Amino acid sequence: MLIDTHCHLDFSVFKDLSALLVASRSIGVAHFIVPSTTAESWSGVVALQKQHSEISVALGLHPYFLDSFKHHHLEQLEAALLTNDVVAVGEIGLDKWPRMPDYELQQEVLLAQLKIAQKHHLPVILHARKSEDDLLKVIRQARFSRGGIVHAFNGSLEQAKRFKKLGFVLGIGGTVTYPRAKKAQRVLQALADEDFVLETDSPDMPVSGYQGQVNTPLRVVDIARVVANLRQQSVADVARYTSANLQRVLPNWHKV
Ligand SMILES: [Zn+2]
Repeated sequence: MLIDTHCHLDFSVFKDLSALLVASRSIGVAHFIVPSTTAESWSGVVALQKQHSEISVALGLHPYFLDSFKHHHLEQLEAALLTNDVVAVGEIGLDKWPRMPDYELQQEVLLAQLKIAQKHHLPVILHARKSEDDLLKVIRQARFSRGGIVHAFNGSLEQAKRFKKLGFVLGIGGTVTYPRAKKAQRVLQALADEDFVLETDSPDMPVSGYQGQVNTPLRVVDIARVVANLRQQSVADVARYTSANLQRVLPNWHKV
């Protein structure tokens, strides 16, 4: 069994979700973690979870979408965590790409959400883009100790080790499937089995060979195959230990 630990199945591009879930299951992709992006998106992802037992959700405020952020969203987040079954607070983090929302506000909202996650004993799903060192700093500042997943990890082995010390595993997705992604492949080869989980980041981050198409959880199989090849393991082994890793960092994933 393979698990897509990061897919935005609430995005409107997924028109026939039931058919997609059936197709995914038929090739061994059996569970899906759907993180949210804005306060407005929370009711939609919670509805998905209620409709489909193979979907688990995380609630949070994504740094990419902070243009619509209001301070009362933080109180609403705490209330929503108490009334819904969630596996993590997410997707939260820092994005240092040009033209991203105010970086100071990003750090402030991240810090507040890490404190909320700590208070409610929840792990987090982190978004990192050119911001790994700053993320590590804010995690320490928040005294956050519940760990979670650094999704679409694209940092160095040194940064990977620092996240591991703080209880995180790394989300490995489409990037490693590109032959030119030598650095990401070398990092993957140096990780221990216990260090990562698999994800597609659907509908974004297409897998090599599928550029220009909407990415879907079906592609976890392709990612697992590339990972197995690069690490000289079997796909069955990769499936087994990445599922065990998810169980360790997001222990509620199968209960909801
Ligand atoms: Zn995402």
